[in-house]
Amino acid sequence: MDGKTFSSYVSSAFILCTQVPRFFKLLLKYRFPAFALKAALTVPLAPACNLPRGSLALETACAMFNCEILLAGNSRRLIVQLLEAGLVETLINDLLPPRGEGKEGKVFEEWTFHCPDMSPLKALMYASYDPHIANALHIAIMAIPHQQMNSTAYDIWQPFFDSFGPHRDALRRLPNDHIPLCDSLKHPSITKADGLVVGGASKECSGCHTTVYCSTECQREDWSSLHREECIRSRVDHIDRQLKGSSISHRTRLYNILHLEAVMHQVASQWSEKSDEWARKPVCIVDADIYPVTLGFDTVEVAGTSTRFGAKLFDCARSRAMLRQVAEGDSAVLAVCVSAFGRCGVFTFARFGMDGSSMTFHLQGGFCRAVDASDIGLDYLNV
Ligand SMILES: [Zn+2]
Ligand SMILES: [Zn+2]
Repeated sequence: MDGKTFSSYVSSAFILCTQVPRFFKLLLKYRFPAFALKAALTVPLAPACNLPRGSLALETACAMFNCEILLAGNSRRLIVQLLEAGLVETLINDLLPPRGEGKEGKVFEEWTFHCPDMSPLKALMYASYDPHIANALHIAIMAIPHQQMNSTAYDIWQPFFDSFGPHRDALRRLPNDHIPLCDSLKHPSITKADGLVVGGASKECSGCHTTVYCSTECQREDWSSLHREECIRSRVDHIDRQLKGSSISHRTRLYNILHLEAVMHQVASQWSEKSDEWARKPVCIVDADIYPVTLGFDTVEVAGTSTRFGAKLFDCARSRAMLRQVAEGDSAVLAVCVSAFGRCGVFTFARFGMDGSSMTFHLQGGFCRAVDASDIGLDYLNV
């Protein structure tokens, strides 16, 4: 079979998949994607096969790893099979390097043909919110010989790699059966422990179901300092979010806080000298709604007036109380992560103490606030 016939078989098979879900299930059952990609990777390209774009593996990967398929059901098994068969290798060797004259800015041309706003790496990052995909991706990444990557591919790959590290770390540390959070801003000093609760289950506020506490003591403290004022409004907001489909579970909130903690550890580990940027500008804003993720440090004053998605970052008493803790030196750094999933925007706040001798951050606590696209008159915040 020549390359062109091979490629047209794969394309037709996957066009059929989008129409007939049962056929898609059958292909997955017999591991067709893995066989197709493996076959494509081993077939040398004869000059006579005259493929219109790129190599056979690229054609094959593009046919299977595209947005319509990804967004369809069952994409977990498809992506895991593709990852096991060398999808990452194909991305790096064939998709990332620019090919042909004057194509420097168009490395994802074939992919973006299917979906203009989505690069393969961004799609893979979204897909990796599934822990099974994250594990398969981690194994695939570990198997890549980095020295073989050309410099253009490396420049595109590295931000993905840097973003994936904290993400996987957070997923790996996310407990299955309990939520080790405590929303009292005084939790570390009351319990003489770090931000996460060790052992035992936290209990949520029975009034609003939006805050959790490790103990009656922490709950009482938070009630008198903050929660008395916010409980009823939080309950109304929570119901409103549930109706709009943009409510944040305690588990998602925990993931976001753990992710932010991993990002801050990565930041600290990349400081070569004793950096004191955080001391002058103690608010770290991480923009995770764009790909690749970017971050920057701000002063309390500048951060206090910052906006994202047309909403103020510090728009509630809890976030402003956290900002005050940083201004008054109770916390060394306040990290804020901005992320968006479809119509739901999330601001995640996490406070950190700083161990001066080892230059490491330790988590003191955190919470999340959701912004629904309809709050600011939009249909979607991003894809
Ligand atoms: Zn507590
Ligand atoms: Zn409450």
